[in-house]
Amino acid sequence: MTILLYQTDSYTQSFQAIVSVIDPETHGIILDQTAFYPGGGGQPSDNGWLQSNLIEIPVLRVKKIEGQVFHIIDPAYPLLQPGSQVIGRINWELRYQLMRTHTAMHILCGVIFRNYGASVTGGDMDPLKGRMDFEFETMQKELVNEIENAVNFEAARSLPVRVAILPREDAFKIPDLIRTKINLLPEGIPFVRVVEIVGLDLQADGGTHVRNTSEVGRIRIVDYKSKGKINKRIYIELE
Ligand SMILES: [Zn+2]
Repeated sequence: MTILLYQTDSYTQSFQAIVSVIDPETHGIILDQTAFYPGGGGQPSDNGWLQSNLIEIPVLRVKKIEGQVFHIIDPAYPLLQPGSQVIGRINWELRYQLMRTHTAMHILCGVIFRNYGASVTGGDMDPLKGRMDFEFETMQKELVNEIENAVNFEAARSLPVRVAILPREDAFKIPDLIRTKINLLPEGIPFVRVVEIVGLDLQADGGTHVRNTSEVGRIRIVDYKSKGKINKRIYIELE
């Protein structure tokens, strides 16, 4: 199995690896370890480059297929041989924007649950913009400013963001995780990765985040929509 470097250190921008498997069908490469995020949980996949000898091969996107991380490379380049050494480099500008956006969405979740008791049901993001769905019957236009002020207040408090990988039984004992639908995790998963904005939000989550909320910067609530009586969608943008 590929070692997933981004799970323990989201700030790894480049890394050494060895090609373990090549897949002509997807024009994909599996490595012994990777810092490329394969997408999931609303966060898009990384792109970047694999360097072998002096050739830089563009990685167009990264995909998890049946538990394996495939680096899909530019079809203009031949697949490397298994056993080849490579240096991987992720598109850091894109990734860091996604880390900031992803963390902003956790701040929004934490604030809305704490201040209004509304649970999140889903979300999606692009670099510097995201949307989240809540069971938030009382959401109305007058709350937009109040929510925006509260999320910016939390971001500016420089709260640490911590990641832990816990045995499943331990994770299931954390009351805050139950509300984020941890019970939907597949049975066979022995460990749960937990992301905590200390004092504000705690989620079972595989994505990449910044280390401190101060890195998020200013968040704007740009719109919201009713998706029925109870379900509301809130749109954010980062500056
Ligand atoms: Zn997350």
